Formats: sequence, C-alpha cells, structure tokens
Amino acid sequence: MRIKLDLHVHTVYSFDSSVDAAGLLEECRRKGLAGVAITDHDSLQGGLAFAAELEQLVIIPGEEIRSAEGEIIGLFLREEIPPGLPAPETMELIHRQDGLVVIPHPFDYVKLRRMTASRLSKLSRHIDALEALNGKPRYWGANRKAAAFAARQGIPVSAGSDAHRAEDVGRVYVEMDEFTNPGEFLVALRGATLHGSRYSPWASQLERWKARMR
Ligand SMILES: [Zn+2]
Repeated sequence: MRIKLDLHVHTVYSFDSSVDAAGLLEECRRKGLAGVAITDHDSLQGGLAFAAELEQLVIIPGEEIRSAEGEIIGLFLREEIPPGLPAPETMELIHRQDGLVVIPHPFDYVKLRRMTASRLSKLSRHIDALEALNGKPRYWGANRKAAAFAARQGIPVSAGSDAHRAEDVGRVYVEMDEFTNPGEFLVALRGATLHGSRYSPWASQLERWKARMR
C-alpha cells in the first residue's frame, strides 16, 4: 500500500514550534497522512515522545542536528546526537544506530545553517537522502537545485513541510510504499513521489500577527 508521509516536522520540543500531539494527529487525519518524521532542533525527545503517544500514526523519530558544518537530519534514531560535531562524525553517529542521514534544504542560501555543495559532494556516499522539496525555502530555485544535485549524485530525494505550526503539517509530503525498517524505507523512498508546494514563512508570520490583533 502507498502511504503519505511528511518527512520534516518540528514539534513543541523545538524552541520555535507550536505543534503538539493533538494538533499533529488532527492534521494528519484531515490531510490523509499516515504520519510524519519528527525532526526537532538538536533534540530527539519529541520524536520519541510522539512515537510513544501516537501509536495510530507512523512516527519516525528524528532530529535536525546543527553540526559544525550545517544542519543534518537523522531519521530512525534511538539516541540523541549532540550538536556542534563535525559533519562526518555526526553522520557516523546516525549510521551507528542504524539511522538514516538526510540533508535538509541544501540550496536555500538564506539559511545560514545549511551545508555547502562542495562539502555535500565530498560526503555524498554518507548521505542516504537529500531533501529536494522543502515547504519553505526563502527563494524558488532552492528546491530545483537540490533535486538536480541529488540526481547528479544518485542520492534518493525526500520531502517535508518543515512545519512549525500544525496547519502547515502535510503541505509537503512523499507518497511511498509501506516499510517496516530503515532499509525498507530507503528502498521505498527511491520509488516515492514528492508532493506539495512552497509556502511563505512571512505569510505565516503575518497571519499570526493578524490573529493576535483580533
Ligand atoms: Zn527544520
């Protein structure tokens, strides 16, 4: 069976997100998502807590780790990985616990915490997937560039909303075959289709201000 998953979601365990378990569940039901990958900033707590609490969803526990060379997502993690380590060491720590290395928004030049293309090329054999569709890149070409880079390097692509609010969950998602472990997930990801479109973080901010003034 094909399922829909949003592979980049922040929860209340990130300092800048308001997504709680109830909101996540409601949004997944409304949009027909089987689940999400939880990728909080430098924390695996949300992934583990939500996986335990939301058994009716497919929750992939993950972490968006700020390595010394830029952000790296670890999926299927069991142990939290500290920020600030060199990128190769961060990737090694992910793989040692049978996790998967995913590089988020690699060509979004406004995001200062991203890894550079030359580093990604050098480390490409340690990268399991590259995020080719992120819900809120600051400029249009970033996703296209990421997709082209992944194709050149032969790396599978992933997609996620990068949601920090419940209503943004599922704006971007992958549709893929079901899986039971990280290895199967990776095989399924090669046959996945990416869906959704960019949304503006500034528009989201504007909506928030308007709501506050009402
Ligand atoms: Zn993120």
